[in-house]
Amino acid sequence: MEAHEIVQQARDSGVNLVMFAYCDNSGIIRGKATHVSGLERRLASGIGVTTAMQVMGDMDQLQPIDGMGPVGEFRMMPDLDTFTLLPYAPKRALILVDMITMDQKPWAACPRNFLKRMLAQAESMAITFQAAFEPEWYLARQDGDSFVPMDESLDNSTLGAAIAREIVDDVVDALEAQGLAIEQYHTEVGHGQQELSITHADALRAADNHIIYRETVRNVAWQRGWLASFAPKPFPDQAGNGNHTHISAWDAASERNLFYDPNDSMQLSELAYHFISGIMEHLPGLTLLTGPSMNSYRRISPGSWSTAYICYGPDNREAALRVPSRFWGSEMASTNLEYRPADSSSNPYIALAGIIAAGLDGIRRSLTPADGLRIAEDPARLTPDELAARGIRRLPSTLLEAIHALEADTVLTDAMGPLLADSYLTIRKADWELFSQHDVDFEIRHHFYKY
Ligand code: GLU
Ligand code: MG
Repeated sequence: MEAHEIVQQARDSGVNLVMFAYCDNSGIIRGKATHVSGLERRLASGIGVTTAMQVMGDMDQLQPIDGMGPVGEFRMMPDLDTFTLLPYAPKRALILVDMITMDQKPWAACPRNFLKRMLAQAESMAITFQAAFEPEWYLARQDGDSFVPMDESLDNSTLGAAIAREIVDDVVDALEAQGLAIEQYHTEVGHGQQELSITHADALRAADNHIIYRETVRNVAWQRGWLASFAPKPFPDQAGNGNHTHISAWDAASERNLFYDPNDSMQLSELAYHFISGIMEHLPGLTLLTGPSMNSYRRISPGSWSTAYICYGPDNREAALRVPSRFWGSEMASTNLEYRPADSSSNPYIALAGIIAAGLDGIRRSLTPADGLRIAEDPARLTPDELAARGIRRLPSTLLEAIHALEADTVLTDAMGPLLADSYLTIRKADWELFSQHDVDFEIRHHFYKY
């Protein structure tokens, strides 16, 4: 859409505030709104934000990074294609932004630009990516200091779907009104836990969609008197909230799925195996990009279908990468890889960019995964010796381990660039310092609302 069309649409629809929004280094969605009277000017020159916002921890603890303090601004420059009226807030609209320096260049700490850079690298190799997220979330109410799930229904329970119906139906309507297409809905294994997936899109749009999705679910639930939480493990005794990430590689015209080869035992191409191998190699550090919060590591544990091991396998939901079975009749189109250690406390741009950076490294180096990493059973059932013989390693089991793994992975930190890598790692360390001094209740309370 052109800027003048956006202004016209906002005025015609009775919008008074247009939120310029982004997802920050902590995975928190933030923004500032312009009144519609200033919209035209703001679309052209953005809205200024202090650079400090990209070094705030999960509790707004400002971290010391040169050039990211009280002095200096970045501009939120909207991507006009992302403008959306908000069906759940008729007087408001949303537009997603890139972070731009005052000399009008992409800011090195911009997560959306990290993804754009990785996509540009892929494009120079004649590859485009399609992606889809599979978000899980809880519906709950606050009761004093604790949270109580909406119901006690079972996995895929139609009763659970009936109990959550009004909220979920409003969410579906609101997502569709914003141009997102729904794939599937079911209640998940946790009490009050929901899963509603949306159709794949090109990778940048998929990440944008996830921001729109999180905003929509939380707003709709709130309006009906419920809290929706995407925190990775909002109830320690219940299932975690994953954000499994599906990815497929396509040729430049987006016509041929480059991960597909009908002649292979898993119907995967050589390129897919290179990509898988890159993910396997970089998974320890990559885990920090896809599961960055203290609460992420309460989710990642053996036997909870979140995956805890660096391996891959056909329809294996305890492997870090699942190779999903195909849709009959559209095998090529439905070939993709499902990355499972991801959760929605991650920034979807950083998470996807990290997955792509790791996969591209595997492609560039023509890596092939070791035979032992392919597994058709739950790796948690293997003895330590059997795991070692196969070369299957554990994923980081604490935030601190994941921090060290990313620090040691120069392919990933080089892909991020020094400013994004430093600021990201610094606030992850601050979160570790903070949350490791407190108990689980404190951790839950301070993740439940934010994600
Ligand atoms: N809730 C599980 C997780 O934390 C995933 C369950 C499933 O959809 O397989 O990833
Ligand atoms: Mg699920």
